[in-house]
Amino acid sequence: MSGGVLVPGSTIGILGGGQLGRMTALAAANLGYRCHIFAPEAESPAALVSADWTRAAYDDHAALRAFASKIDVATYEFENVPVACAAFLEQLAPVRPGTEPLRVAQHRAREKAFFEGIDVPVAPYAVAGNEAELIAAAKHVGLPAIAKTATEGYDGKGQARLEAGTDLPAVWAALGGRELIVEGVVDFTAEASVIVARGMDGVTRCFPIGRNVHRGGILHTTTVPGGFDDKLLRQAEVIGRRAAEAFGLVGVLCIELFIGRDGRVLANEMAPRPHNSGHWTQDGCVTSQFEQLVRAICGLPLGPVGLRARQVVMTNLIGDEAADWLRIAGASDAKLHLYGKRQARPGRKMGHVNRLVT
Ligand code: AMP
Repeated sequence: MSGGVLVPGSTIGILGGGQLGRMTALAAANLGYRCHIFAPEAESPAALVSADWTRAAYDDHAALRAFASKIDVATYEFENVPVACAAFLEQLAPVRPGTEPLRVAQHRAREKAFFEGIDVPVAPYAVAGNEAELIAAAKHVGLPAIAKTATEGYDGKGQARLEAGTDLPAVWAALGGRELIVEGVVDFTAEASVIVARGMDGVTRCFPIGRNVHRGGILHTTTVPGGFDDKLLRQAEVIGRRAAEAFGLVGVLCIELFIGRDGRVLANEMAPRPHNSGHWTQDGCVTSQFEQLVRAICGLPLGPVGLRARQVVMTNLIGDEAADWLRIAGASDAKLHLYGKRQARPGRKMGHVNRLVT
């Protein structure tokens, strides 16, 4: 350490072993840092490209202690890392961006309350802790609505659409009989996300804002620029900056947004880590979201975020789509990224392609 700055050669510990950790580790290596992955799974895309790997459960305190003794700073690449794990580690090593954004991002009701607390609009919602409350919540919010499990939902999983005549007790059972939030269906013209980084010096920087298209609840493409007007872009940036500052974040934060037909920008959900909708930055931006995370948590100044092309389109390769890798690798405008996962399962993110329009 020199004045809070971690010098190259220092080790970044990453909780979680998926593709986000992998791409963070690759960016870290470019700046001379080493990464040590901590993850329970037998297979880890991140560990394949990192200097060290601890395979252990998130509640294995002895393993966490040993991990902490080998790293200079820790981060997480997966927002369902138990808060207790990050909090335990925090007693032994700096954890950036900290446990509070993790705690908020893990629970949809907390997330909504956080947004409301910083004056960021969200869809109308109500929380339901049992069947009767689900019925009351549907009435309160109005139909159509979407019921989402409060925790552990991602990529459209743990969700059910509620229409007039939907059997609500059946929905309660199908979603596992656990806490839900019921959200009004937003009449949006587009989806977008703001990805903001904040450094140890308190400086914030937003990446250019992309337009996201989902298919079956999973991100399909992100296009940057997204064709949004300046007023809307400013609203989105304000939301990103306000959230990062409220947390005193050191790291990268993504907020997924709905662009309402009335021009309002609503927050949907947040992730205090690099995000799939920011993968375009690897080839389309001077500094990638992964490098920006490394810079932030190591105390470096944030990097510039100018576009490197007229337009960039990121397309996810889900399941079998990755089988087309050789053809994509031969395209003149495409940069192929594969995550080193052995098995392509339906809905599994295997890689992505960044296409640059110059
Ligand atoms: P989520 O898991 O909350 O990110 O939802 C996945 C996708 O489902 C979103 O990106 C939207 O395309 C859609 N969706 C989720 N919530 C709503 C909502 N309240 N109104 C309309 N569409 C939604």
